[in-house]
Amino acid sequence: MRRPLVAGNWKMHGTRHSIGELLSGLNAQQWPDQVDLLIAPPALYIQQCREALDGSPLKLAGQSCAYQAEPGALTGEVSPAQLRDAGCEYVLVGHSERRSLFGETDEVVCRKFAAALACGLRPILCVGETRQQRDAGDTAEVVGRQLQVILERFGVSGLAQGVVAYEPVWAIGTGLTASPEQAQEVHAMIRARLAVLDDEQAQCVQIVYGGSVKAENARALFGMPDIDGGLVGGASLNADEFGAIARAA
Ligand code: PGA
Repeated sequence: MRRPLVAGNWKMHGTRHSIGELLSGLNAQQWPDQVDLLIAPPALYIQQCREALDGSPLKLAGQSCAYQAEPGALTGEVSPAQLRDAGCEYVLVGHSERRSLFGETDEVVCRKFAAALACGLRPILCVGETRQQRDAGDTAEVVGRQLQVILERFGVSGLAQGVVAYEPVWAIGTGLTASPEQAQEVHAMIRARLAVLDDEQAQCVQIVYGGSVKAENARALFGMPDIDGGLVGGASLNADEFGAIARAA
C-alpha cells in the first residue's frame, strides 16, 4: 500500500552544461509508473531542470531550505516558499552533511520541517547514525532522538506528510552500503516506534534508505519489507544508473 520512492540528491555537482546532458539522459529513461520519482538539483539549476523535465514523471526537490517560510534577512538562504514557487514538491531536511558540516541541530531541522509543510512541500527527513555511534550500539537511540523532535511537534500523521530517509552516515558517499538486513533492521525499528504512537499512520509512512545505493544493490535493498525506496547520491549523477535504480523499486 506504500508507494516506493526513489530520489536523486545531486549535492553540489554540475554546471549548466553537464546538467543539460544529465537531463537529456534522464529524459531518455523508461520510468516505472508505480514509483514516486524525484531529483534534488543544486538550487541554481532547479529552473533549468523544471524546463527540461516538463512532462516527465520526475519531480523536483530542494536539497535544504531556510527555517522560515516568510521572506526575510537570511543572506544566502533559499526559503521553502521559493522552492515551491520554483516548482519543487519536496525538500530534504536534516541531511547528515547539513547536520555535521553546517551545524544543523534537531531543533533547526524541526523548524525546517515545519516551514516546508507550511509551504506545501513534502519534507524528506534524513536520520542516521555515525560509525562510532553504531559501534557503540547507539543506533536506535540516535535515530530515535532525531525522530522524536518531529514526533513531539507533529505526531505520526505530521511525519506521514513527509518521508523518512534512513541514511547511516558511514554509508554515505563511502561505497560502503548497509546490508539489506542491517538497513531493514533500522527501518523496522523506526516503523515500530511510530506504530506505538499510531499504528495506522505508521504503516503509511514512506521510509527510504540512503547510503551508496547503486544499480547493483538497489533490488536487494528495496526488496526488504520496510524499505520503501532510496535516496541516491553519487549514482544519481548517471542517468542510466539512476534509471536502473528507479526500475528496481
Ligand atoms: P551516496 O549519498 O548515495 O553518494 O552515498 C546518499 C546521500 O547523501 O543522500
